Amino acid sequence: MNQVIYLDNAATTRTRPEVVEAMVPYFSEHYGNPSSVYEFSSPCKEAIDHAREAIAESLGAKKNEIYFTAGGTESDNWAIKATAEAYASKGKHIITSKIEHHAVLHTCEYLEKRGFEVTYLNVDENGIIKLEELKRAIRPDTILISIMFANNEIGTIQPIKEIGAIAREHGILFHTDAVQAYCHVPISVDEYQIDMLSASGHKLNGPKGIGFLYIRTGLKTRSFIHGGAQERKRRGGTENVPGIVGLGKAVEMAMGTMEERAEKERELRDYLIDKVMKEVSFVRLNGHRINRLTNNANFAFQFIEGESMLIMLDMNGICGSSGSACTSGSLDPSHVLLAIGLPHEIAHGSLRLTLCEENTREEMDYVVEKIKEIVEKLRSMSPLYEDYVKRPGAKGHM
Ligand SMILES: *Cc1c(COP(=O)(O)O)cnc(C)c1O
Repeated sequence: MNQVIYLDNAATTRTRPEVVEAMVPYFSEHYGNPSSVYEFSSPCKEAIDHAREAIAESLGAKKNEIYFTAGGTESDNWAIKATAEAYASKGKHIITSKIEHHAVLHTCEYLEKRGFEVTYLNVDENGIIKLEELKRAIRPDTILISIMFANNEIGTIQPIKEIGAIAREHGILFHTDAVQAYCHVPISVDEYQIDMLSASGHKLNGPKGIGFLYIRTGLKTRSFIHGGAQERKRRGGTENVPGIVGLGKAVEMAMGTMEERAEKERELRDYLIDKVMKEVSFVRLNGHRINRLTNNANFAFQFIEGESMLIMLDMNGICGSSGSACTSGSLDPSHVLLAIGLPHEIAHGSLRLTLCEENTREEMDYVVEKIKEIVEKLRSMSPLYEDYVKRPGAKGHM
């Protein structure tokens, strides 16, 4: 096998050829500025309108509740900072979780330096927040609950409907970072009582650098990017027309195939998980066994350095990740793995494999074969492992 086996779809996905094809005319033929009055620009306006419509429909939202942004990070920043500003007179307390994406966590830390108080909820060993703890954290000055729909590292899906109900009952706004979940699981903003939702094109086979924020009608918010009158004056800047077209097309395609895609991915994911758990010793599955994204597998291998493993997988043409793409380059173990209670040394030995419907069982067989070889090799160099296996009563599983 000399082709690359790409198992890092939580970091980014391949843009579908149909999406690229849909985008091309908006670079070449229809390059007009959507804000211009002449007829030449109307195909651009119409294309934006069409994409907005498709996205609104996918969430059971209204068209004018969808605001295009440059991606998930911007949407998270906008939702949290603008709410903080608009509702500061009501209160300065925000509730989030310890396992959010850095786009949420670092935004909250930024607000803490500016007089806001943030409660970071714990999660259980599977990465799920405790609803009782959420209820206890609510105060009269709480203005926002921001909890991600599904985690990007361990794939765990949160009880979003219950969180939405709690927020609504207390008159608190509810934002969810749904970047990993959107177009992968069904979402209805009304049913889940979501007030704001972030999503990103490149996590659903669309282009990079484009996303949106859903903002429920009636919410007080603030412009995030000051400038022209684009996006109903809330997000200035000439629209990324090709990006918006690509995002709309990707959403239409992903929504149309969601069920069968999920079925294929789940089957393949379970095959991979079962095989690794059966064939490798001292391994643990991180995240909930059932209640997780259909394409996510995350393992902790004891006595192994995750980074060494990634490099050796790479030498075999396999793309995976240890923790998340955003933590690579830093030697700290992932905040998510620490939050679910893994000790530092085990969190360091983690491997995330996120697949897509195009992967095959043959690829999974090859990957597990390579994991076995690599784990054996790295452990043979580990004095800790040597000591451990010689201990009386050492078991094969964590
Ligand atoms: C990828 C990701 C983001 C960031 O999205 P970008 O479009 O890359 O800015 C935010 N939150 C989650 C959960 C993600 O997986």
